[in-house]
Amino acid sequence: MQPILSIEGISKSYGNIQALQNVSYEVPKGAVFGLLGPNGSGKTTMLSIILDVLKANTGTFNWFGKPGSPETRKRIGSLLETPNFYHYLSAVDNLKITCAISGRGNDQAIEDVLKIVKLYERKNSRFSTYSLGMKQRLAIGAALLGNPEVLLFDEPTNGLDPVGIAEIRELIRELSKQGKTIIMASHLLDEVEKVCTHVAIMKRGKLLAAGPVNEVLANEDIVELSSLHASDLKLALENFPGYSSIQENGELIQLYFPIGTAPMEELNRYCFEKGIVLNQLLLKKKSLETKFFELTND
Ligand code: ATP
Repeated sequence: MQPILSIEGISKSYGNIQALQNVSYEVPKGAVFGLLGPNGSGKTTMLSIILDVLKANTGTFNWFGKPGSPETRKRIGSLLETPNFYHYLSAVDNLKITCAISGRGNDQAIEDVLKIVKLYERKNSRFSTYSLGMKQRLAIGAALLGNPEVLLFDEPTNGLDPVGIAEIRELIRELSKQGKTIIMASHLLDEVEKVCTHVAIMKRGKLLAAGPVNEVLANEDIVELSSLHASDLKLALENFPGYSSIQENGELIQLYFPIGTAPMEELNRYCFEKGIVLNQLLLKKKSLETKFFELTND
């Protein structure tokens, strides 16, 4: 299937700061695509480029298989910065202004959008009376006007309390269920793991990895085993079924299994039946945090 967005060799520098270096990836239709990376890794720069707010130095990108045009732009809703809503106006009146400025949506769309972002009951309250989470939901509502197929959000949960964060994440899942493709920047591994189907991991302007979350951020069980004769142990374990990789680390043999599948007793029995007595058998879980740390550290 044709990707919604394909990015090919994008580079961008600000003076002598290289914000993006030859970055390429594709966003499949229907994905919740997380752009994950620490501060300054180039996420906002990339979102600005694919929205035509900034121009790349080199590289190309295609939306819906075509170079960007005003027509394709209408199919994309975005939230890069919190919009300047008027504090003394209601949600409805603020969205009317957004409609007028952007040319997207109408009175009916405003009603629909307020229902989606769960502000309908409070639609006539002044913006100044909203919680931070409600303000952010209204901003997402503004991005939804005109019913775009794709939504771009830059750090959509930044600055919110845990309740606000949960509400926004739930809203993103809901929008995804309705068939929208969502691209969101986040510096939170945990958020990407909870919300996204796909991820691109950025570090100092470079792409480290991209693909489905369950592949890129795969969790693993690691079993460490040792016995008096490490080489015999390794030879025997090579024929053990179900592991994904085997490594020798000094006296230790490490067997990697998909998360939750390491068969400890069977390993013990297997070795014993092969005449090998273990002096260590230990299960370690490799957390996503470790993996992210490995990916983003030098
Ligand atoms: P954050 O989460 O902090 O916004 P980010 O991953 O979105 O980070 P960018 O904002 O894209 O990263 O910044 C990438 C690099 O480019 C950083 O080193 C940043 O200082 C630099 N940069 C961004 N905008 C400008 C600008 N207008 N002028 C000069 N340098 C910039």
